[in-house]
Amino acid sequence: MNAINHAVTALVLKKYSPATPLITLLISVQLIEIVWVILNITGIEVTIMDPEVHSLANVHLAHMPFSHSVIFTLLWAALGWLLVAKIFRRPQWGLMVFIGICSHIVLDIATHVQDIEFIPFLGWPEIGSGLYGVPVMALVVEIIYSVFCWKLLRGQLLMLISLMVLQLFSLTFYVPQLTGMETLFEEWPQLFAPVIGVHIIFGLVAVGFLYHLEQRKRQQMTEVCP
Ligand SMILES: [Zn+2]
Repeated sequence: MNAINHAVTALVLKKYSPATPLITLLISVQLIEIVWVILNITGIEVTIMDPEVHSLANVHLAHMPFSHSVIFTLLWAALGWLLVAKIFRRPQWGLMVFIGICSHIVLDIATHVQDIEFIPFLGWPEIGSGLYGVPVMALVVEIIYSVFCWKLLRGQLLMLISLMVLQLFSLTFYVPQLTGMETLFEEWPQLFAPVIGVHIIFGLVAVGFLYHLEQRKRQQMTEVCP
């Protein structure tokens, strides 16, 4: 799932647990992606590119047992819960961190090709909806998910437009007929993980900013119409 949509999921969690700091939720929904970036840069997990890269369908997440398997996600989520609920003594925040970390693998299974292992190293079939094999379809589903979250959040029009614009930043990855920066990875596949790292940070900051913008507008409206 696109970094923007993972980040928007943090806003949905914030709606149901307003006391949990947004930064905690934003980090939790992208934690396993951050782990993926680090493990790819260090060569522990592996991504392979086709000789020509036109879309996400040409990017193969060949080996990611520690960041993106179901069992390791549960382990990361349990560690997150342990840290926040038991060590920092914030049980409610800990629960939201657990849900946030797990939300990532759920959304990825809903969009990825079959590249997610349930339990790694057992040779079991890998899972994924297969949508990223037909990236244009994936884009439609991602936009629907964005709109669904926006509806749940009862967001204003500015938030919806901003979310759509943010999605468009990666449009060429979803539409093979459009050429963008994805061709860069044909020659420099090692840049893919760092670029995703930047995309994650950009998505978290942008969505965090949108949240605060929305809060400020609501505050101004209640001040005008008490
Ligand atoms: Zn992911």
